Amino acid sequence: MAKPNILLIYTGGTIGMVKDFETNTLKAFNFDNLLVRIPEIKQLDCNISTHSFEEPIDSSNMNPKYWLQIAEVIEGNYATVDGFVVLHGSDTMSYTASALSFMLENLSKPVIFTGSQLPIGDLRTDAKENLITAIQIASLQESGAPQIKEVCLYFEYKLYRANRTTKINAEHFEAFASLNYPELAVSGVHLKVFSVNLLENNESGTFFVHKNMCPEIAVLKLYPGITEAVVKAVLNAPNIKGVVLETYGAGNAPTLKWFVDLLETALIKGIRVVNVTQCSGGSVIMGHYETSMHLQKIGLISGGDITFEAAITKMMYLLSKKLSKEDFKTQFEKSIKGELTASFL
Ligand code: ASP
Repeated sequence: MAKPNILLIYTGGTIGMVKDFETNTLKAFNFDNLLVRIPEIKQLDCNISTHSFEEPIDSSNMNPKYWLQIAEVIEGNYATVDGFVVLHGSDTMSYTASALSFMLENLSKPVIFTGSQLPIGDLRTDAKENLITAIQIASLQESGAPQIKEVCLYFEYKLYRANRTTKINAEHFEAFASLNYPELAVSGVHLKVFSVNLLENNESGTFFVHKNMCPEIAVLKLYPGITEAVVKAVLNAPNIKGVVLETYGAGNAPTLKWFVDLLETALIKGIRVVNVTQCSGGSVIMGHYETSMHLQKIGLISGGDITFEAAITKMMYLLSKKLSKEDFKTQFEKSIKGELTASFL
């Protein structure tokens, strides 16, 4: 059997940096020299090629234009490559990976995001393990076809569904969590893939990239004491088409009249408002408490157990499709790429 072809896409972030010991600063290194830096890679049973962003970026500078750039590299190589590994800064990795999970339509190959907390040249680096295992996972084949057919995130011995992840720690090597969905694989002495957790690939169409994402959205995070002026300012921000409302607990919010009236006015104007909980685990269940009945009544969309990162990117994706109010709600409340648990709704 031919060895799988793996494409490493380097966008930036700590993983691809080395310390300049003279100046003590981190700088990006030329990824074409990867094999020189990590000779262990030669032992992997696959053919590796690399594509590097012309100017690698810290992931704080990520935006939808770069998401498209990554998606287009995948598109351009899709016919000849069996698996993709995207090296990305960990800070916004969950956003990019969630966005890509929506943008890559009819995906039937693995796209594995990874990065690291320490640079690849550092003695105690987590970069080598993350990179080597991510490549191994992208190479997994079953009956001559890729075993994993979705966008994933690999970090510190665990493979997650990308659109279920959140960065939870800026210090620990275990930087990510997927609180509402189990791991897809765990790397120990053996690499164990939990097949039942993998996304069922019911998409039989041809792969293509959804290229429009609508960035005209806003976030309204509730906190005790939030003022009418602040809510008004967010809901009336120029040109916004959608709002992610970050509520408390199981999707609860104040019952104050001015608050409900402002939300209702936004909905009447055609702004799509999604209710997402501030809790990292668990789900919005509108109507469970009296403090969410009013949100359900005025027609807020339930984000269920979706992460904030997936809610933002799903909203950008669905808004670009210019759906009717009803269709937008139906699409948001159902799982498109395994990003939420439909049984919660
Ligand atoms: N600031 C870096 C980034 O997100 C951190 C990292 O790579 O982990 O690009």
